[in-house]
Amino acid sequence: MPAPAIVTRFAPSPTGSLHKGHAYSALLTDSFARERGGRFLLRIEDIDPTRCTVENTAGIFQDLAWLGLEWETPVRHQSNHRDDFTAATAGLATRGLLYPCFCTRNDILREIERAGYAPHGSEGPLYPGICRRLSSDERDSRLAAGHPHALRLDLGKALQETGSDLIWHDAFHGPQPARPELLGDAVLVRKDIGTSYHLAVVHDDAFQGISDIIRGVDLFEATHLHRVLQALLGYPVPTYDHHPLLTDAQGNRLAKRDRAITLKSLRESGTTPKDLRKELGFP
Ligand code: GLU
Repeated sequence: MPAPAIVTRFAPSPTGSLHKGHAYSALLTDSFARERGGRFLLRIEDIDPTRCTVENTAGIFQDLAWLGLEWETPVRHQSNHRDDFTAATAGLATRGLLYPCFCTRNDILREIERAGYAPHGSEGPLYPGICRRLSSDERDSRLAAGHPHALRLDLGKALQETGSDLIWHDAFHGPQPARPELLGDAVLVRKDIGTSYHLAVVHDDAFQGISDIIRGVDLFEATHLHRVLQALLGYPVPTYDHHPLLTDAQGNRLAKRDRAITLKSLRESGTTPKDLRKELGFP
């Protein structure tokens, strides 16, 4: 029997407890797959050991099982696959598409102040290109001296390879011309953890054959960059569905730090999975 065409995933980062917003996203993803005879995967995005804990990972399994979700095993834990991410990055580096960035946050802020203007994206002010402009001698001597550095995508060079007419499709918002300039020269390899969310998520979605990515609209802008990475790495382009985020009664986005609405606290205060599913609009 041919493999089902639809493969979805829920990909939380174990940096805190899951809340109602995560439950909504997970249920939406699961029901999308279920209604189409597809597969539903869970992936643990735990590349950042400074923020992720095994307790939070255990909590994710417990919360999702309580909610009545079932996922395929084995579950991919990104922290076990750093070599895959390094290999993907090495390919980009060999093609001259990455450059080392030695800047601290303060260096960047100082340069933005000096230049007197700062284009902004969803992740804050865009990188003003300081290390892209280093001479190769300067770059080599800092590397030889072992200065800590991240690796950034040289977006200008990347777009010369991919062309600038990339498109992706969002089920909720329609066809989207990719606008990676909203993220600029993004960091693909962080100084502290040796990879990045952007690189790891794009790699794993391709590796796991994800056909439909359902996630919150807070990641909408990131998708513009992800589309460029897919083109550079020769990966297939999934369809996206960036859903609205749940808000509290005051209209604020739910956050992991608000303990009251975590699934654990709801469970402990007597909410049943059936109540919650109903509240979120699922049978
Ligand atoms: N791991 C990301 C998060 O928890 C979500 C990744 C994604 O869905 O692309 O925010």
